[in-house]
This record gives sequence, structure tokens and C-alpha cells, in this order.
Amino acid sequence: MLSTMSDSSAYWSVECSPGEPDLFVCMDCLDEVFRAKVPIQGCPGCGAVSTFEAFALNSLVEWGTPELIAKAQATGVQLHATPVSADSTALTDGPLTT
Ligand SMILES: [Zn+2]
Repeated sequence: MLSTMSDSSAYWSVECSPGEPDLFVCMDCLDEVFRAKVPIQGCPGCGAVSTFEAFALNSLVEWGTPELIAKAQATGVQLHATPVSADSTALTDGPLTT
């Protein structure tokens, strides 16, 4: 399928190995994120060029804004399954004392 994209939607594609960070965040506005590509014309949000740095979603969720995280997840990347402690269930199965 031929696509006639406008200039502003052109991207450099970035090859990322599985397991490597593939989310490119604009470090200038921290508000734009792209997966395995960066916009040729610079950040569509703030216009900064060459400010993109690669992050994994797991690290991005530790400091990103909810908006940024939502954008990152919208690219289709999944959080790696993180082991959740089973401790939180312990409180619910004690005997009821009334
Ligand atoms: Zn930006």
C-alpha cells in the first residue's frame, strides 16, 4: 500500500533488539514517546531535535507522567511481568471475630 505521509509524520526507524529499551522519549518536554522510531523533524510537541532517549517501559513508569505512560502503552509495548508479593492476600483469610 502506498502511503503519502506529510513531512511532519516522517520518522527514523530505530532497530531495537528484543529486551532492549525501544521507547524514545523527548527529554525536553517529557511528553512525547515513540516506539522504535524518532520523528525526523523533531519532537511534535515542543520542536526539539535529537532529544530522544531510549527507555524501557518498566523504567519509564517509575518517573513518567500518567499521560506519558499512557502514550507509551498505546504504542503496544507491554510491561514485563513483575513478580508481585503474595503478602497482600494474607490479611483476607483470617477468621472473622465478631
Ligand atoms: Zn518534546
